[in-house]
Amino acid sequence: MAFWRKKKEIAVNNDGHFKDDGVFCAMPWVHLHVTQNGNVTPCCQAPWGDEAKFGNINTSTIQEVWKGKRFEDFRKQMIKGKPAPACSRCYEKEEMGWISLREITNDKYENEINDLIQNKFHSSSYETPVYFDIRFSNVCNLKCRICNFSSSSSWYNDDLALGNIKPETPALTTSIIDEEKFFREFREQIGSIKEVYFAGGEPLMMEQHYQILEFLIETGNTQCKLFYNTNLSRLKFKGFDILELWKQFDYVNLAVSLDDIGERLEYQRKNAKWEQMVSNFETIKREANNVDLMISPTISVFNILSITEMHLELFNKGYVRVEDVVPTLLVYPLEFNIRNLSKELKKIAEKRIEEHVIWLENQSVEDQKKMDYVLRQYRNIINYLNHDGDEKARLNFPQKIAKLDALRDEDFVSVFPELKSLIH
Ligand code: SF4
Repeated sequence: MAFWRKKKEIAVNNDGHFKDDGVFCAMPWVHLHVTQNGNVTPCCQAPWGDEAKFGNINTSTIQEVWKGKRFEDFRKQMIKGKPAPACSRCYEKEEMGWISLREITNDKYENEINDLIQNKFHSSSYETPVYFDIRFSNVCNLKCRICNFSSSSSWYNDDLALGNIKPETPALTTSIIDEEKFFREFREQIGSIKEVYFAGGEPLMMEQHYQILEFLIETGNTQCKLFYNTNLSRLKFKGFDILELWKQFDYVNLAVSLDDIGERLEYQRKNAKWEQMVSNFETIKREANNVDLMISPTISVFNILSITEMHLELFNKGYVRVEDVVPTLLVYPLEFNIRNLSKELKKIAEKRIEEHVIWLENQSVEDQKKMDYVLRQYRNIINYLNHDGDEKARLNFPQKIAKLDALRDEDFVSVFPELKSLIH
């Protein structure tokens, strides 16, 4: 359903409890998202630019933005059930049958939504955000094929060599100019934090991330839930031992960005080492019971034929439960979009995924709701795959691969022999 859709139902049931109207989202009452340029926007799904920003953390205090007019207007629109252009990505996902961040958030924060309804959305019921997602920088040790310099500092030299950025572009982007001021405000203005989501760049390589963990530990708030999107390629950084820190929290959830195994992984996520990943999984399983591991592969042309193999490998090795490999789809760069595959390759991919879905349906699971979601994701992949691709992007694929292969001294065909028809 797109943002021009009609409202289906009211957001409040007759009994005064929340009822999804397809528009309402808890985010603006619970969440503070700071983008890599310091803008405060509704969440990571909204655009980074000025069109969706409520303010900038470098020119205003957290409280000024949180209680500011733009944020309040956004909340008011949501109560009225008016779809927001900034939320198009959620609406579009739901229309395609994918679960959206809006639905996930409403599920997680249902009690808070009901409290807001009881309090008639009075501003005293959301004095400060309780859920944070601050993108401190683009620092990352990997340079994945599907990524670029804006999300990974390691891409800098390659993007420079490819002419995608100018030499005067700084290698590092940081969202917060005056960190001392920010952390002072953070300590003074923020009440009880319920959840922090860390993503990157690579959060485990960001000192600011460790500062937040230390703040939570110092203030005794180890019930705060920690969620990560991490490449998990290292567990130690500049004297910090992340496992020792995680052990002090009640709950840590890792969504590991892992797209493949062995040399296919090392090609797709340059600088990642499969053996190191295996060792890190084993260390976490052995030493940290409070850490939930989930794998979040991004499905592209590179791994569409091998995703089922990776799923089986991680499950069989005991690193994750069978319902804990949750695929998501890559749309951009268009060259790597699975819709550009040939009919023959699409057929192979579809057959493998269909067989995998049948196997998954017959597994016994601890979390059926999650498994239903995983099955839905796989079925959505098949659905998505069987649409026409972008001819220009398909023709551009060999050249895009060849340029980076030359720079990185890699060879696509030797790593992905099944996909050689994409090149020739
Ligand atoms: S509807 Fe989606 S895009 Fe809008 S605030 Fe909620 S999660 Fe973010």
